[in-house]
Amino acid sequence: MFEKFDCKVGADLSEYSTMKIGGKARFLLFPKYEKELVEILEICKREKIRTFILGNGSNVLFDDKGFDGAVICLKHLDKIEVRGSFVKVGAGVNLFALNLALQKLGLSGLEWSYGIPATLGGFLFMNGGCFGHEICEFVKEVYVFDGKKFRTIQNEACGFSYRNSKLQKYVILGAKLHLKREKSEKIEQNMKIFYNKKKESQPLDLPSLGSVFKKVDANPEIHPAKLIDKMGLKGVKIGRAEVSKKHAGFIVNLGGATSEDVLALTSFLEGELKKQGTYVEREIVVLREGQDE
Ligand SMILES: Cc1cc2nc3c(=O)[nH]c(=O)nc-3n(C[C@H](O)[C@H](O)[C@H](O)COP(=O)(O)OP(=O)(O)OC[C@H]3O[C@@H](n4cnc5c(N)ncnc54)[C@H](O)[C@@H]3O)c2cc1C
Repeated sequence: MFEKFDCKVGADLSEYSTMKIGGKARFLLFPKYEKELVEILEICKREKIRTFILGNGSNVLFDDKGFDGAVICLKHLDKIEVRGSFVKVGAGVNLFALNLALQKLGLSGLEWSYGIPATLGGFLFMNGGCFGHEICEFVKEVYVFDGKKFRTIQNEACGFSYRNSKLQKYVILGAKLHLKREKSEKIEQNMKIFYNKKKESQPLDLPSLGSVFKKVDANPEIHPAKLIDKMGLKGVKIGRAEVSKKHAGFIVNLGGATSEDVLALTSFLEGELKKQGTYVEREIVVLREGQDE
């Protein structure tokens, strides 16, 4: 069915999530360009195959039982085109590569995102951010496929809010970003500063999905990680999943953790936070048979 495409049958999903957890996918497809993506989506629709769009898997917990559908990874939609201080970037470009390219081009703005293992598509999907910035600040327009046609959506119509966007009903193909001119050396310096800050505070040496929970009502005063730390829950383990000793907002895989370990630890933390009167929302996406949460 997918012979003409770059397709792995029965691929091990743990290799495609930064959590290093997951069973097998019936199909894992890597469209090379937009036309192939549309063809793949049409086949899946016709054959009633469930689909899941994947960026770099830095926010996705795959089920150990796997996924009886088609995971469509957009990492080959990786073009970067420059027009003055505007840059058209494919959804599959990862933020490491994007920052390095922008640094060489002398275009500044995104240095705070250097070190986040996301693709631009995944980052737009949830309006990712850190150090007081969000990706939406740099977006002019977003290119999507709505299941029937290609559309261009202007920033104001993307419905960006804290770790959320209205783009979640589309396949995101890329975006036009606006940046500002700066000396390459200065950009490199900024990237290093932000990267080192992350290295100091986050367990970058262990598999994780970044922060498990969103801030409560986007309120920086009510930060789940700070509350978890205050309750003394750093280092708590279920199976091989552990609340990071370095950053209480992260759950890390100590090696051999299962999706059930991670979900049980997540539920445990939710319960402990609830006892303190704090109701948290999960930031991570869980892909299970029958539903994605
Ligand atoms: C070490 C570490 C540090 C992190 N630090 C931060 C941080 O500072 N700030 C922050 O915001 N996040 C952070 N994260 C979380 C993560 O990087 C973000 O959530 C990121 O946006 C996920 O991007 P991705 O490409 O990996 O998406 P994936 O994990 O592959 O997918 C996430 C969701 O987006 C959807 N999706 C992905 N691409 C597309 C597309 N092109 N079209 C439609 N839907 C799509 C998927 O279906 C899924 O629902 C961190 C994660 C790790 C592991």
